[in-house]
Amino acid sequence: MQILTKIDDICRELRKVRLSGKIIGLVPTMGYLHEGHLSLVDVANDNADVVVMSIFVNPTQFAPNEDLARYPRDFARDEKLARERGVDYIFYPESDEMYPAPYFTYVVTEQMAKVLCGVSRPIHFRGVTTIVAKLFNIVQPDVAVFGQKDAQQAIIIRQMVRDLNFPIRIIVAPIVREPDGLALSSRNVYLSSEERAQAPIIYKALSEAKAAVEQDLAEAGQIAGQIRQTILTTPLARIDYVEIVDDRTLQPVKVVEPGTFVAVAVYYGKTRLIDNVYLKER
Ligand code: AMP
Repeated sequence: MQILTKIDDICRELRKVRLSGKIIGLVPTMGYLHEGHLSLVDVANDNADVVVMSIFVNPTQFAPNEDLARYPRDFARDEKLARERGVDYIFYPESDEMYPAPYFTYVVTEQMAKVLCGVSRPIHFRGVTTIVAKLFNIVQPDVAVFGQKDAQQAIIIRQMVRDLNFPIRIIVAPIVREPDGLALSSRNVYLSSEERAQAPIIYKALSEAKAAVEQDLAEAGQIAGQIRQTILTTPLARIDYVEIVDDRTLQPVKVVEPGTFVAVAVYYGKTRLIDNVYLKER
């Protein structure tokens, strides 16, 4: 495994790989790796000859009041985990390498960036699409793997790829969870032991909603109401949103149909957790 920090160096290395006819897979991350990230490496290895993982805590997707400075980092550990899991190249640039001053150009998926997490994080998806577009241009992967955990992000990236004609196949891998159902997240380390004990209610509420849909409950308002009620049985929860939306448009639906999923964001203390479950597959 090679670790490259400069854009010129990774471009030079990957040009050789591409010329040898190998398929390149990209797994973009912000590091502090867990089994969720590593499951994406497995998917990338199943779909590509050479796997590039980027590790970059992207400043443009954090608002000034968010957790950029305290976002957890441990490169030595990430390096070991990535190597053991079969990553071929880690791209680990500094901020100045990705955003040399002056920096003016952003990629925005307009409407889609304003809903769900975009309501409380209005600049977040502009930062995500910008950094992912930059990584796509630098790495020029054949395939890129994202997690269903960040459903809105994956849907927005699919839209960006279609809109801007990136010749890249996007694969979305399933959510990896703790045994008690909590979705793995680098941010779970922020949770106090009480918060951590209450947080599995999120997945429980989503699973109950899915079961209710299987029993023929279809009215989105009613389903969302039940999810809210369940989550609020844990006293430390503060709901940011519970939305039942279409997986192509991210627009709310009134009645569950194929492609409908429920997405939630819930605060436990200062920690904002997101999760989602398909209510009906396409
Ligand atoms: P992050 O480092 O949080 O930006 O995440 C990098 C990638 O890993 C994104 O595509 C996430 O959706 C994905 N990811 C994060 N957590 C999980 C999880 N629990 N299961 C599957 N994928 C995940």
